[in-house]
Amino acid sequence: MQFLVTILLQQKYWSLLYSIFSDGRLSGTTVAVKDNFCTTDFKTTCASKMLSDYKPGYDATVVRKLKDEGAVILGKTNLDEFAMGSGTVDSLYGPTKNVWGSTLPYRIGGKSRKKKPSWRISGGSSGGSAVAVASGCCRIGLGSDTGGSTRNPASYCGVVGFKPTYSSVSRHGLIPLVNSMDVPGIISRTVEDAALTFNVLCGLDVYDSTTVNVSPAKLSENLNLSSLKVGIPREYHCKGLSPEVLAIWKSTARLLQEAGARVSQVSMPHTSASIACYSVLNQCEVASNMARFDGLRYGHRSKQGKSTEELYALSRSEGFGLVVRGRILAGNFFLLLRNYDRYYGKAMKVRRLICEDFKKVWQDYDVLLTPTTLSDAPTLEEFSRLDNREQCVMNDYCTQPANMSGCPAVSIPIALSKNELPLSLQLMSRNYDESTLLSVARWIE
Ligand code: GLN
Repeated sequence: MQFLVTILLQQKYWSLLYSIFSDGRLSGTTVAVKDNFCTTDFKTTCASKMLSDYKPGYDATVVRKLKDEGAVILGKTNLDEFAMGSGTVDSLYGPTKNVWGSTLPYRIGGKSRKKKPSWRISGGSSGGSAVAVASGCCRIGLGSDTGGSTRNPASYCGVVGFKPTYSSVSRHGLIPLVNSMDVPGIISRTVEDAALTFNVLCGLDVYDSTTVNVSPAKLSENLNLSSLKVGIPREYHCKGLSPEVLAIWKSTARLLQEAGARVSQVSMPHTSASIACYSVLNQCEVASNMARFDGLRYGHRSKQGKSTEELYALSRSEGFGLVVRGRILAGNFFLLLRNYDRYYGKAMKVRRLICEDFKKVWQDYDVLLTPTTLSDAPTLEEFSRLDNREQCVMNDYCTQPANMSGCPAVSIPIALSKNELPLSLQLMSRNYDESTLLSVARWIE
């Protein structure tokens, strides 16, 4: 009896009961939440020792909205530490394996027995949520997207990954990476599910002053492709693009054209500067955002340290992994008074040029069609040969510009590669035009 009362008094069981009996738009829908969104029912660790014991006192707005509509939050999912990465390999809890490619032949016997079997990375940093959806554990995965972290793992795992327009979904309760680019992202099996979830999550939030009221995404039933203008930005045909991705890019463009859309090449000349520019802005914002984790106000506290300064230093070097520490160091260097204009100031100017590229293109085109990732999912060995910076250069090339400009973007699985792994493409559209974006995505799907 006492056991029953204890259970009933726990809020999470009430919310579970509520989900089952509610008539909300997501009633009974199972959701996995990336572990950088605050949740009262679970710890929020950002896959970092720094927050390994953090139990927030509130739910992120997106989590609250999901619960209010009857969704069942199954649990929290793995990510790269503080969402810094593109593989979900750099986590306190170890890497997240892709569900695809797990049947790679294991060589048993002889010398090769000692060799670790090779498996595919899930992509990242929202790899845990992508795998949860791809493996059928849940219907919706919540991710975050600062440079592609929702679309990249969705592409490698063969599911839909949707980054809404910046400011259309609240960031309140999402532990920040780059405040000016972070957007909660949605991972699902179908475009329809992504649209439904977006309509639940979007809109003004008093806790996030950057949010605005937006109209819900409407999936058009009879999409009229003859009035659709599709741009193919030539700069996205970059070094390292695999022939297979190029082939599906061409065939999908042809398909749209045959269905009546006007498809033509466009130029976005500042695309290749996006990654370098992002890297500077990211590190500057990281240096500032991570300052709060000092072991006194927030985060892991070292047991050593004889002075306050020493306690700060020890707590931070024990609590943060190498990638995070490297970015903090670089960010503080860029922000030094003598460097500020040369790096941060310059990067802000380049960001403006990238946004101008988009602005110009939206005068004539409704959507842009590009690859999401340059190839199918690499094996852990292939991925680990590159350092974190090189991994981002390779993985975020096509996804990152949308975060610079804030426009919505979605990754949709298209075909299987010869390795029998998913290959995906990305669509982008004008800011706040989720309806066109998702309608075209559903047509392609
Ligand atoms: N790979 C990028 C980075 O490490 C993007 C991460 C993200 O979108 N959260 O910064």
